[in-house]
Amino acid sequence: MTPEDEEKGCHQPPTPCSLLHRLPLLILPFSLLLNLLLLFPPAPVTRTPPEGEPQRLQVLTWTRHAAAEAEAVAAVNCSGHGRAFLDSVTDGDGRPSCECNACYSGRDCSLLLPNCAADADSGDPLFLEPYWQRHAALSAVVVSGWHRMSYRANGDNYISLQLETHLRLLHEAVGNAVTQGKFIVFGSGSTQLFNALIHSLSPDNDSSSSSPSHVVATAPYYPLYKMQTTLFDGREYEWEGLTSDLANASSSSSPSANFIEFVTSPNNPDGTLRRPVLRGSTVIHDHAYYWPHYSAILAPSDEDIMVFTDSKISGHASSRFGWAVIKDEGVYQKVTRYLQFNSMGVSRDTQLRVLKLVKVIIAKVKKQDDIFEFGYTTLSERWSKLNKVVSASTRFSLQKLPSQYCSYFNKIRDPSPAFGWVKCEREEDRDCAAVLLNAGIISRTGEIFEGGSRYTRLSLIKTEDDMDLLLKRFESLVSQEEPALVASTR
Ligand code: PMP
Repeated sequence: MTPEDEEKGCHQPPTPCSLLHRLPLLILPFSLLLNLLLLFPPAPVTRTPPEGEPQRLQVLTWTRHAAAEAEAVAAVNCSGHGRAFLDSVTDGDGRPSCECNACYSGRDCSLLLPNCAADADSGDPLFLEPYWQRHAALSAVVVSGWHRMSYRANGDNYISLQLETHLRLLHEAVGNAVTQGKFIVFGSGSTQLFNALIHSLSPDNDSSSSSPSHVVATAPYYPLYKMQTTLFDGREYEWEGLTSDLANASSSSSPSANFIEFVTSPNNPDGTLRRPVLRGSTVIHDHAYYWPHYSAILAPSDEDIMVFTDSKISGHASSRFGWAVIKDEGVYQKVTRYLQFNSMGVSRDTQLRVLKLVKVIIAKVKKQDDIFEFGYTTLSERWSKLNKVVSASTRFSLQKLPSQYCSYFNKIRDPSPAFGWVKCEREEDRDCAAVLLNAGIISRTGEIFEGGSRYTRLSLIKTEDDMDLLLKRFESLVSQEEPALVASTR
């Protein structure tokens, strides 16, 4: 075919015969294109996913409704003084309504109630709520309707293997505990583990010859140890009281073999780092607050029995998750038997949520948005403000805590305790909690901690609103004492 023929062909209608002749020429470009496509497939056209969103999540099917519901509730306006949850009570329009911070009210929590007492009572770790709100995308978990419906998990004793592995990684990353060569058990909060441990460390209740073990702590101590032990007092163990009543006896006579001593370090209520007092006792080291938010990390704790709780590291007290690190296999076996008969392990839903949180915490260790940096900055500032107010007073004093070198931050850090342990210095102020209550501050009397009523505990780990009101009320109380000396802290 000449160029002229081609020219002609353009102007003449094609006949079936001419098309047949041209067929190889028509097919050739398509075949070439097909081969090229097979050899070099084009890159799929995608939008750039937002930070933290894996590409495979771009096609959502069954999660879309739940995700929309979660985002809608997060967007409910509560004026920064409250929040709405998926399971909040619904308002007239069927929307979840705001749950307001203490002393705030109204549909959108914008009304500050006048003369409302500052509530510094409970150790509710809501100071970490803004951290997780800021990291909503990273920390959200979607739980399918069929997520782990079985009693069984993928590890022994109803535990998630992934979570166990990540807890070990967490301790290694923070440097606060040695877990190598030790067993880990999970509990519904550390609260459940305390009794599991006491039971497991006590003589078997079928050996009628042996006497029960004696459970002790050093004042001021976290009162739940006593409350729980006396609740379950039986043939195996009983609450014995304070180590101070026994320390002299044990140093002069035989070691306290039959004693189980709670050592809380850092201590609730006064934030001090503690060691066992009795010689030869079996020790449960409660390290609820041995995280860089609250304390300098001096060295990795390498004790035989250590207890930790998610309530204080991530702030999710609601999830009821604690863990114990146990050296002795016999103790570990007894604890797991207890947990099996008591609750058949910790909720698998909770384990999933905690796994997510721990992964986020690990990913941010010593980087931007580190939860420990956030926690430490928040609490050290609160501590410093409270000190400033109290330092202008001769009527009240606070516990003295040293600045210490912290291996986590690799620097000397200021104190940042979870609680202020206030002492009323005036002779007549024998009931310190009552003195504060008179001034519109709800605290927890030192009597509960067997520290005496001259002391009372202020929680510094609640919401920013709680803290602001506490400082305001305390400032006003101190100003009645020496008005000229009180400097504004806000
Ligand atoms: N130990 C100490 C010293 C505590 O202060 C608390 C809670 N206030 C707990 C344990 C209890 O933690 P959980 O929420 O894990 O039961």
